[in-house]
Amino acid sequence: MPDEGINLETNDIRYRYPWGNEQRYYSYTQYIRQLFGGRVQKLTIDAGFSCPHRQGRSGSGGCTYCNNAAFNPSYCEPSKSVTQQLREGVEFHAVRYRRAKGYLAYFQAYTNTYAPIEKLRSLFLEAASFPGVVGLVVGTRPDCLSEEVIDLLEEINKNTLVFTELGVESIHSETLERVHRGHGWSESRHAIVQLAEAGLHVGVHLILGLPGEDVPMMLESIAQVCELPVNSLKLHQLQVLKGTALAQEWAENPSSVKLFTLEGYMELLGRLVPHIPAGIALERVTAEAPPAYLIAPHWGLIRNDAVLKRFEEQLERLDAWQGKALGAKRVEYVGND
Ligand code: SF4
Repeated sequence: MPDEGINLETNDIRYRYPWGNEQRYYSYTQYIRQLFGGRVQKLTIDAGFSCPHRQGRSGSGGCTYCNNAAFNPSYCEPSKSVTQQLREGVEFHAVRYRRAKGYLAYFQAYTNTYAPIEKLRSLFLEAASFPGVVGLVVGTRPDCLSEEVIDLLEEINKNTLVFTELGVESIHSETLERVHRGHGWSESRHAIVQLAEAGLHVGVHLILGLPGEDVPMMLESIAQVCELPVNSLKLHQLQVLKGTALAQEWAENPSSVKLFTLEGYMELLGRLVPHIPAGIALERVTAEAPPAYLIAPHWGLIRNDAVLKRFEEQLERLDAWQGKALGAKRVEYVGND
């Protein structure tokens, strides 16, 4: 069995692309394989949560770019129970992919910690007890993690691993205000530290190309987030989706929102990824909104895996790799999975 993953003493990276070349970044697939010893399938759940920022507590209208409906698979409907959605998720994936070793129940839509604690307990435990579920993934906002919510996640994490996914998006207050995030960087930083101290896996979501941001600002977001105890990052390009305030802003003044071409985005990733520490898994580097929701940018009918391949070719062309700018060495490795 070849040596894979990160050598924490030397900070070297040893892994491969699925299609056989050397890999130049630490993929989430690799991270999950190391934790569970095999392939684990995420099953998305829409448990009918809302978002305090769209309605209720911290604001109204939501983030200017948000159309949550664009990210829900067809089998996810809050009218179905958690168990029913997981059952349908298993069937949906069984006909498309090879069998997984286990499942991660992914509470994705809206803010999945915005509900009374007993409701959260009941939904999370229902998912954790579904046959084959080995972990929960809980997407939320940094300002929706009270002490009792973190205690609950910590308790569940003792038997079923809990991966938190935090929408941070940027560290810059002018950006966060402009896109109407409804929280600041200090709340994000506090939430990351609290989650890590509770022993939970911490994943952070950042959007690249938010209005008004240049490359140094994005680099600064990455640097400050990666100084904290973060396990994984999800990066994606800004997209203009139907039904959002951003769509209106863009329609009224297209030059106010700078969107990446595919080539421009690859260049950007080639500059940013060497600044990400080698031990932080990259869960995604791009997003793919369904055509029915996407206004711009259009990169043709290119799918996520094709974009990923372009990203890997870009790293190869630049002879760059994750962590290179921070001194991580790369070990050339060719072997069998
Ligand atoms: S992006 Fe998240 S936090 Fe912002 S409005 Fe949408 S669901 Fe709420």
